[in-house]
Amino acid sequence: MSILKIARLGHPILCKKASPVDNISDPNITKLIHDMTETMLDAKGIGLAAPQVYSSKQVIIFRSLENQTKEDSHIKITALINPKINKISDDTENQWEACLSIPGMLGLVKRYSKISYEGFDMNGNIIKQEAEGLRARIVQHEYDHLMGILYTRRLVDKKAFGYADEIEEYWKKKHEQK
Ligand code: ZN
Repeated sequence: MSILKIARLGHPILCKKASPVDNISDPNITKLIHDMTETMLDAKGIGLAAPQVYSSKQVIIFRSLENQTKEDSHIKITALINPKINKISDDTENQWEACLSIPGMLGLVKRYSKISYEGFDMNGNIIKQEAEGLRARIVQHEYDHLMGILYTRRLVDKKAFGYADEIEEYWKKKHEQK
């Protein structure tokens, strides 16, 4: 496995629609997923999409943050190939998001609260799940990468974007005081 370079905001590959994977059992796809996993863990991310590592393919990975107990510190990672998502309800939530392609920054983004997603795992098995809260947010964020969309295009308010420390100071604290 190897740690890959991560494309940053401004690189055109991040604005390009990724193409579907034709052959899921292609060893190159397996290698891509392994390398993406190592890259995401190294960068301390919770999700990563293939275009972020310069591969314009419909592959995303994300960490499972639920059901993780102290005894079981094993990190669970889901890989989804050719994913599709659907909203389950019209409810939305606004939350601050970060992106490994926009290091050091945060933006306030509206996402559907509950979604279903499906796709294939590395072995070609169909994955079909529902997600809410943070996991739903991560899947929508990573799926957007495959459509060439960065969270900066989905800001709730154009002003709600900036360096993480400034956001902590001037947005989050202000919000908590209310
Ligand atoms: Zn991202």
